[in-house]
Amino acid sequence: MASRVIPVDPFDLVIFGGTGDLARRKILPALFRRFCAGQMEEGTRIIGAARSQMDDVEYRAFVAEALLEFNSGHSGCEPGTIKRFQKTLSYVTLDARGEEGWDALAAKMHPGRVRAFYFSVGPSLFSDLAQRLHQYGMADHDARIVVEKPFGRDLATAQALNRSLAEHFDESQIYRIDHYLGKETVQNLMALRFGNMLFEPLWNSRYVDHIQITVAETVGVGGRGEYYDRAGAMRDMVQNHLMQLLCLIAMEPPAKFDPDAVRDEKLKVIRALGEVGRDDLVRGQYLADHEKPGYLEHVENPDSITESFIAMKLNVINWRWAGTPFYLRTGKRLSDRASEIAVVFKEAPHNIFTEDTGRHRNILTIRLQPNEGIDLDVTIKEPGPGGMRLVDVPLDMTFSEALGPDADDAADAYERLIMDVVRGNQTLFMRGDEVEAAWAWTDPIIASWEARGDKPIPYATGSFGPEDALALLHRSGRKWREIRA
Ligand code: NAD
Repeated sequence: MASRVIPVDPFDLVIFGGTGDLARRKILPALFRRFCAGQMEEGTRIIGAARSQMDDVEYRAFVAEALLEFNSGHSGCEPGTIKRFQKTLSYVTLDARGEEGWDALAAKMHPGRVRAFYFSVGPSLFSDLAQRLHQYGMADHDARIVVEKPFGRDLATAQALNRSLAEHFDESQIYRIDHYLGKETVQNLMALRFGNMLFEPLWNSRYVDHIQITVAETVGVGGRGEYYDRAGAMRDMVQNHLMQLLCLIAMEPPAKFDPDAVRDEKLKVIRALGEVGRDDLVRGQYLADHEKPGYLEHVENPDSITESFIAMKLNVINWRWAGTPFYLRTGKRLSDRASEIAVVFKEAPHNIFTEDTGRHRNILTIRLQPNEGIDLDVTIKEPGPGGMRLVDVPLDMTFSEALGPDADDAADAYERLIMDVVRGNQTLFMRGDEVEAAWAWTDPIIASWEARGDKPIPYATGSFGPEDALALLHRSGRKWREIRA
């Protein structure tokens, strides 16, 4: 089943920070793949803008090198295509905080076509960029800005950032990116919930026992130690990515699949989140193993109490979910790199198969990585003679198997989100009030562990976090799902 590619009108995309890590690893390869897919019309221009001194020729060579390094393994792009793609590229040396380069950038703009500015620089430059775009006449109604995380480090900083962007751009022009929302499976979650009759009637506390959301990484903080130590897992992962996943699971059906309708419903979920008590939260910090250094060796502060792992029990306090806990966990240096959402349904109310002593539950698993796809565990009879013993088996919908090889090649999150910016579709981007509501919920939780001076619990590299995280579920007779990459 070949996916349909609808070309978009020629557009201009300026990447502030066009020589940085994110641009090299994600943004430029994503643009290249859309180019290969035939989605970019002749005349589209990609303009790198950063501090390094470079000309167009050097930037084209720089990008080609990045593509060779970070686009390998993707089919559909022939080596010769890089040369054609290079023609779309140019470069401006520019200082976000000074005047250098801004006249040159403004002179490049074509009026009357979509113009997107990707802020792929540190957040301390966001306001400067917005202000300069305005000052140099580029912040008109053709303009859109794309803002990377982190969007603030608490409610006050997020509000200040929102205010500074709002001085020059309307909310409809601001695209706050959360690449988790660009994942195929995450969108499929909405298709599954709102495109089928089967699930929605059961999607509530009457039938759902609990929900688990896991985002597990095997890497440590590595070279990001300085940033990470100021953030920790709560700010770096929960406030944004896990919160967004939770919203899509918990939200009411929007009246239509339209940016504000979807975001209104997500916002209501965040506002319905209950407080998280001390006993419902476990923070951890990874230890060294025989090969790799521990967390404290990656950061400057040898007494750091920042968490590299967090697990928590949350309550969404509304009619649909009261009584169904949501368990979230995320961390670094865990045993596997795997992310999934599991909706664990309640057991059948009465067991007629008395020979069977097992506990059986339907579990709907939405796998974000690896092998994006959806499983539904159903209970069937164990094959063979010997009576009615039951076994749980997954109905597997790995996309590449169900939809053919094209599904494997589906656009990655950055490809989809960048093209959504160009098309002007904000559905998969966070609105300012959503981000603020998420911080308003996060801030008191952080403040209370800081006030108590709680230290994270050390955990072994290659484990699944501190043992105490298991107890979060054990005390109510539940357990975390085993997750394997
Ligand atoms: P980086 O340090 O690798 O690159 C920064 C870029 O900004 C460089 O191109 C640099 O030239 C440019 N720059 C710095 N100061 C400038 C100035 N005064 N004027 C103009 N350009 C300037 O950073 P990165 O890892 O690419 O991250 C960029 C943003 O994306 C950050 O906000 C980061 O938090 C966010 N982010 C990065 C990743 C990632 O995987 N790297 C993932 C998610 C979010």
